[in-house]
Amino acid sequence: MQAVLLEEFQEPLTVQDVERPEPEPDGAVAEVIGCGICRSDWHCWQGDWDWFGYRPDPPHILGHEPTGRIVSVGEDVENVEEGQEVAIPFNFACGSCDLCRNGRENICENHIGLGFMNQAPGAFAEEVHIPNADLNAVPLPDGIDAESAAGMGCRFMTSFHAMAHRAPVSAGDDVVIHGCGGIGLSAVHIANALGGNVIGVDLMDEKLERAEALGAVATVNAQEVDDPATEVRDITDGGADVSADALGIATTCQNAVNSLRKGGTHVQIGLTTSEEEGMVSLPTDEFVAKEIDFKGSLGLQPSRYSEMLDMVESSKLDPTALVEDTVDIHQVPDELAAMSDYNTVGIPVCNEFSN
Ligand SMILES: [Zn+2]
Ligand SMILES: [Zn+2]
Repeated sequence: MQAVLLEEFQEPLTVQDVERPEPEPDGAVAEVIGCGICRSDWHCWQGDWDWFGYRPDPPHILGHEPTGRIVSVGEDVENVEEGQEVAIPFNFACGSCDLCRNGRENICENHIGLGFMNQAPGAFAEEVHIPNADLNAVPLPDGIDAESAAGMGCRFMTSFHAMAHRAPVSAGDDVVIHGCGGIGLSAVHIANALGGNVIGVDLMDEKLERAEALGAVATVNAQEVDDPATEVRDITDGGADVSADALGIATTCQNAVNSLRKGGTHVQIGLTTSEEEGMVSLPTDEFVAKEIDFKGSLGLQPSRYSEMLDMVESSKLDPTALVEDTVDIHQVPDELAAMSDYNTVGIPVCNEFSN
């Protein structure tokens, strides 16, 4: 089958013929129907995430935002059947560690990152393997087909967990999203649906226009003001209740924290780049004086997908609104290369794998 291969970090990606996966006893194989193309693929390709354990040994198949149709299941799988359409979270869980058993499968002790770790070849491929499929394959309800669910990849589900669970956003909260790429725009859309008054911050007017179309009540072009955090505090009359850094660079993280009012909550969604290597200096004393909460957010528990899927089924959320364009597998390397300039808008999805 065809797959997008990382053969050497930072060197051009290629589409090559590789072996089809076979299901492990507890696993399943899905034919990939759609797979979002994401800045996280780009980071992995750049070799940025060494310290996070997301550095596979090449050659490795990239791609971590698939939806698919089950084509084969292992002998121990009970709840997943051939023909079923499924969402596939990127952060595979074991189901048996303490965190999994306490409903926090997204940060499972035995976490396997799809497309990021050797144990899980990715989904820019005709077929993908899902380990522990009873937990990690999430059947889609009848009202949602795998094609339209393809916009629900890591950016959308991660933003859902960040806004709905970690923040959590309540009706009337002022919510500021720093960085309006795919994950930031998803957060804008979701926070708006949860009743927040959302402010989008970015450097590109095109992205801010998308943020407004997705429900932002105000936007700030960080290039056009002295200090975006001061601007947000002015707009919100004292600061936001919730801030998120959806990009993961020192500036956006610091701006997001500085945008908060007393008692506010910052949610860190973006992982940092090779520049920060996970370290960002922050106004720690203000955390004390203002009683600010700083929270991390990773993925979404498979057991809580139904909350998001319910909101999609009832049209409160629309993952297709984030999808910028659809491409075939041969265009994936170029789409990822274009991310080096930060000028992609919304979420591109690969939906043609075998041509
Ligand atoms: Zn676990
Ligand atoms: Zn992603």
